[in-house]
Amino acid sequence: ANPPARSYTIAVLPGDGIGLEVMPPALRCIEAAAKGFGFKFEFRHYEWASCTYYHKHGTMLPPDWKQLLQACDAIYFGAVGDPATVPDHISLWGSLLLFRREFDQFINLRPCRLIPGVISPLANRDGKKIDFVTVRENTEGEYSSIGGRIFEGTERETVIQNTVFTRVGVDRVVRYAFELARSRPAKKLTSATKSNGISITMPYWDERVEAISKEYPDVKVDKYHIDILCAHFVQRPRIFDVVVGSNLFGDILSDLGPACTGTIGIAPSANLNPTAKRGEPGKEWMPSLFEPVHGSAPDIAGKGIANPIGMIWAGQMMLEHLGETKAAEVMMKAIENVLKNAKDAQLQGEKDLLTPDMHGNGTTEGLGRAIEEEIGRLV
Ligand code: ATP
Ligand code: MG
Repeated sequence: ANPPARSYTIAVLPGDGIGLEVMPPALRCIEAAAKGFGFKFEFRHYEWASCTYYHKHGTMLPPDWKQLLQACDAIYFGAVGDPATVPDHISLWGSLLLFRREFDQFINLRPCRLIPGVISPLANRDGKKIDFVTVRENTEGEYSSIGGRIFEGTERETVIQNTVFTRVGVDRVVRYAFELARSRPAKKLTSATKSNGISITMPYWDERVEAISKEYPDVKVDKYHIDILCAHFVQRPRIFDVVVGSNLFGDILSDLGPACTGTIGIAPSANLNPTAKRGEPGKEWMPSLFEPVHGSAPDIAGKGIANPIGMIWAGQMMLEHLGETKAAEVMMKAIENVLKNAKDAQLQGEKDLLTPDMHGNGTTEGLGRAIEEEIGRLV
């Protein structure tokens, strides 16, 4: 008898704005990859975790949201936010940031690649590849809510917010980054620090990187202060392979990286709890979440011109995470092929598939279909 087909249950949360536009083509792309490699998806579509839902119900989420998400293998998330009608602290904190916290998604992973066909502010002078990953600590550090104001309204008015690093919190993200570096050909890890200015917490971060590096003698390690590191992202991006940073530094780098590679419209992001295992006895299941780097982009929403690649590439990362490595490889190849061919076609005055953020006049639908068809050809 044939073994049962692999099947994955995916919570689909398109959210707001262009999230609603990029999700359908992205779902078709991952379906095409699944079809080619003999596995299946069960998509559970939810309209909550959106401002539209908030306007109807007065809350971002239904009461049983956690059980609904825990019934899934992974969460596929579009974009949330409508700053004109709902403040970010309600929309963002009431959905995405809540999921990150509740599911302890302590890693935020973002690949940065210069893909032929995409115009980037980084000149590809020597034709060498730009292909690195930022790993951001996603749960503690500078983003603690410990602190407050004293002497308010007086001349001595003082505001304090503490940075919190725990041994567990630092070690787990640093160890993840080392593991990732070890799995890649360059085997190189760069740590973001600022121990010359932040004299208590950052030296601790450096100390833990140093200590854990002993377990990974095969991985080359270096560290840069965050300021010069930002400069290198722009001027010497080829020196990077895996870059790890605290919550704040990782946040900055993980936006800077994708921006440098041309447009945030193509950049994906994974919020991972890499240690959770589904069905582990006595332990709560903590699914990981895959989303594009970009937000709901109200300025272009409804026009059909949003770049769907960030969402599609996030789907590619989801396949990788689910263990569907071959399907993930094909999806990446399809994205690269389509971008390269689209640029050539554009230069020759043929049908332009590139969306406006990539200096073309293509549409979400057109570009999404091209990638879906390319996946179909490659499988
Ligand atoms: P958030 O706060 O949710 O991160 P934001 O308002 O900071 O969102 P985005 O919504 O990502 O930022 O939009 C930033 C800019 O990038 C906007 O001008 C938007 O139109 C553009 N943009 C974002 N995503 C895309 C996309 N997929 N395709 C084309 N342009 C995009
Ligand atoms: Mg915003």
